[in-house]
Amino acid sequence: MAVDEKQAAAELQELRTQINGWRDEYYTRDTPSVTDAEYDQKYRRLEELEAAFPQLVTSDSPTQLVGDALLPDFGKVEHPVPMLSMGDVFSLEELGGWIDHLNADAERDLDYNVELKIDGLSLALEYTDGKLVRASTRGNGRVGEDVTANVMQIADVPMTLPKPLTIEVRGECYMPKAAFADLNAKREAAGETTFANPRNAAAGSLRQLDPQVTERRKLATFIYTLMDPDKFGVTTQDGAIAYMASLGFATNPSSQALTSLADIDAYITRYTSDRDALSYGIDGIVVKVNSLHLQEELGATVKVPRWEIAYKFPPEESATIVRDIEWTV
Ligand code: NAD
Repeated sequence: MAVDEKQAAAELQELRTQINGWRDEYYTRDTPSVTDAEYDQKYRRLEELEAAFPQLVTSDSPTQLVGDALLPDFGKVEHPVPMLSMGDVFSLEELGGWIDHLNADAERDLDYNVELKIDGLSLALEYTDGKLVRASTRGNGRVGEDVTANVMQIADVPMTLPKPLTIEVRGECYMPKAAFADLNAKREAAGETTFANPRNAAAGSLRQLDPQVTERRKLATFIYTLMDPDKFGVTTQDGAIAYMASLGFATNPSSQALTSLADIDAYITRYTSDRDALSYGIDGIVVKVNSLHLQEELGATVKVPRWEIAYKFPPEESATIVRDIEWTV
């Protein structure tokens, strides 16, 4: 990267404008005009330049922001614990470097919980005395959209828990592949624009003004985060998933506690070839430090937790990116 500071400043300005425009299309309007691979490539270049010229990082840089603007039609929900984004790697070598670094700091080989990275959008569910009282999107990480009425239409979200717990869980709301194919076929037959991918279809379907539309879209969830785990005597990520499953939440059956990079590599290989056979989309796998106390100790940057990383699969987007989709339809 043989650029001087002046050239870097100009390129950074251009990248910020371009990427922030794409973020608005993707997060706020659910209408991406470029593929995730294209986005990730530009984002990496932005990160590289900012690492070389840290004095040029600005507060409106996409590297400092989670998600994007909130849709005005929904109530706002503050997240006392922010809902963050996630760091990512694109090769086993990079993943190995991330693991080595954490193991070296801990002076031992840590246990990791390895999960599928579901291609949807984050959702927070709050229960009081065992009753679902509020559901919200990630939004900009600190404030999300209140989508309670719509989430009440998702079949696998429990309205009532088997115990009168006051609890918050978080996870992914997604559109199964079959529902996505069906929705796009109907839209095409009706002469409407189709959704670019299941992730955008899920986001557009969850953020609807009419909960009946959400109901017809056949959304589903996988729940993977337990807030305040100490309160429930849970100390590990795999324990949290088992506990949430016991409460009736939909959890993904493929997560596994693993230690060595070789085992994680085998998991990646397996799901790289099995992903087409799954009934839902995944865009990678997530590796999380299994100890929840250690997760808390490691904390987060302004944008991503330090205790988890996404290994992203190579691009596989064959769907045509379309413009002009109305998110409200
Ligand atoms: P991300 O989607 O890469 O990763 C973070 C998210 O992963 C979490 O918020 C959570 O919702 C989800 N997730 C799924 N399975 C999970 C699991 N098992 N455990 C924990 N989290 C899980 O990050 P992001 O900030 O939501 O989005 C950034 C990505 O979105 C980019 O890398 C790019 O691929 C895509 N994007 C594309 C465009 C575009 O125009 N095409 C624009 C913006 C973003």
